[in-house]
Amino acid sequence: SINEPDYIWHNGRHIRWAEAQVHILSVGVQFGSSVFEGIRCYRTDAGPAIFRLREHLRRLHDSCRIYRIDLPYSIDALERACIDLVAANGLEDCYLRPMVMRGYGDMGMAAIGNPIETYIASWQWGSYLDQSEADRGIHVCVSSWNRPAPNTFPALAKSAGHYNNATLIKLDAIAGGFAEAIALSPDGMVSEGSGQNIFAVRDGVLITPPVEGSILSGITRSAVMEIAAALGIPVRESAFPREFLYIADELFFTGTATEIAPIGAVDHIRIGDGRIGPVTERLRAAFQDVVRGRVKDRKNWLTPVRAG
Ligand code: PMP
Repeated sequence: SINEPDYIWHNGRHIRWAEAQVHILSVGVQFGSSVFEGIRCYRTDAGPAIFRLREHLRRLHDSCRIYRIDLPYSIDALERACIDLVAANGLEDCYLRPMVMRGYGDMGMAAIGNPIETYIASWQWGSYLDQSEADRGIHVCVSSWNRPAPNTFPALAKSAGHYNNATLIKLDAIAGGFAEAIALSPDGMVSEGSGQNIFAVRDGVLITPPVEGSILSGITRSAVMEIAAALGIPVRESAFPREFLYIADELFFTGTATEIAPIGAVDHIRIGDGRIGPVTERLRAAFQDVVRGRVKDRKNWLTPVRAG
């Protein structure tokens, strides 16, 4: 359970946390006709700063486009709303969850005339995968559930409905005693975690599956690729098979909630010495320097919540 902040943004105004309720027959509830984002805001010396806010809001717009949802708010308007919400809730380190859903009205799936409800929630959220022993890699399995094929669920959209697949992957992993799982794509190649992208390191080269196909185009993923390039670490986007996981020198997950999480074992096969590897450690430190505002923000990745 979380510490409930005061406000949630709904269709342009702040409502009380407890008031953010929807009708059970909203199409978003019935059919998962809803798209969303997950964004982190970090405490920095210059006050809270939201990481890659515009990229997340662009992906929200993309998700709406794919699902034919007319999102009535521009990226600029949503950017303002996110900044104001963090300030109104008095949060520093926090997570933001914009959601756009088809609301109540027609009961059918198309629900073209139903209102589009836009919400933004924010709350304090610690590390997503247990990193109480942060340098010990997490233990994961390869899921017996696959990611959806490209012409079934559009992986580039971040839609609530897709997370039924992710939930199967996650719950199956937990039932098996693992913290998380890596799912394969329909063609049997490595795809991603239930809510994370995956990277492998072998012989000093960073390898991650390409966006064409079955992964979400992760914003942490792209940040890590850019940070690696700046550090002179070679990066390749390339499909790789399950067994490549077992012979990697290092493996780690990336995601907004997850940040950078080292993987210590896959299917009980130890990766490296089971602890964070040197390349992962370098990337994690560089990533933290960026999000915490400890290095110059060359790429404009941080949006300050306090003006000036
Ligand atoms: N894949 C899936 C399925 C996810 O849910 C997430 C989390 N949004 C990611 C990858 C990582 O994406 P990002 O770095 O943009 O959070």
